[in-house]
Amino acid sequence: MKNTTLCYIERGGRYLMLHRVKKSNDENHDKWIGIGGHFEPGESPFDCAVREIREETSLEVRPEDCSYRGIVTFCSPEFETEQMHLFKVTEFSGEPGECDEGVLEWLPIADVYSLPIWEGDRIFLRLLETDARFFSLKLSYSGTGELLSSELHFSGEKKPLLVSACLLGAACRYDGESKPLPPEKLAALRERYQLIPVCPEQLGGLPTPRLPCELKDGRAFRSDGADLTVEYSRGADETLKLAKALGAGSALLKAKSPSCGSGRIYDGSFSGVLTDGDGITAALLRSRGIEVFSELEL
Ligand code: SF4
Repeated sequence: MKNTTLCYIERGGRYLMLHRVKKSNDENHDKWIGIGGHFEPGESPFDCAVREIREETSLEVRPEDCSYRGIVTFCSPEFETEQMHLFKVTEFSGEPGECDEGVLEWLPIADVYSLPIWEGDRIFLRLLETDARFFSLKLSYSGTGELLSSELHFSGEKKPLLVSACLLGAACRYDGESKPLPPEKLAALRERYQLIPVCPEQLGGLPTPRLPCELKDGRAFRSDGADLTVEYSRGADETLKLAKALGAGSALLKAKSPSCGSGRIYDGSFSGVLTDGDGITAALLRSRGIEVFSELEL
């Protein structure tokens, strides 16, 4: 079995990403990934992480500044099984130099998901954004690179709970603001659950800030009349994929939203009037057996 490391180096809400375009026989050719590579003889995961960061970026990190977040096991009928040791780094010295394997670029974390990346990377990238416990993630790929299945285990018993990212303080709402839960409610949830932030509208490719939307006859209309049902449905599909990949059986979603609302949503007149119904993501999750509740029910 191969052993490798992968490190996401963060500075000011951006990851240092490597666009792998310089080696023609690279299995990651044209993909964007973090920094890492194969173990050399006698190396520990930390030794490998520190060396790879130095070789690929010219940055210097200390082992104690490498946060060891989990192990990802890649399986495929075509390739040797690989165990990848995943790190996050926020303390380092120096500035990135040239890399033999590709082009280095600091990119906003939210933008990384829309780059050409491996499907399974989305799962552990989401986990890196949380305070998830040390995890083991098994990703099975077909010989052509299609993600067939994923299995996630945490070194603990907390169940995963999808949460609207705006409730966790992310400024992802249409107006560029957030709606954070009161600290005591957040603390109580963290005691019981592994919180997984999701913003279906961003996952559907919508920018932030954006004009508000409401649902009318099952379709999502922006306040200027544009029909954004495709983007809203895409966001719902992506959220469902994450729920399945992470084994989340429940979701705490923001009330009244055309994506996240459950039970009552705005009626499509943009006049503040509520009507019975679910947002597009909430409806899809419910139809697949995932329990959905809002912050009003906490
Ligand atoms: S889509 Fe959901 S998570 Fe995103 S801003 Fe709207 S309510 Fe919040």
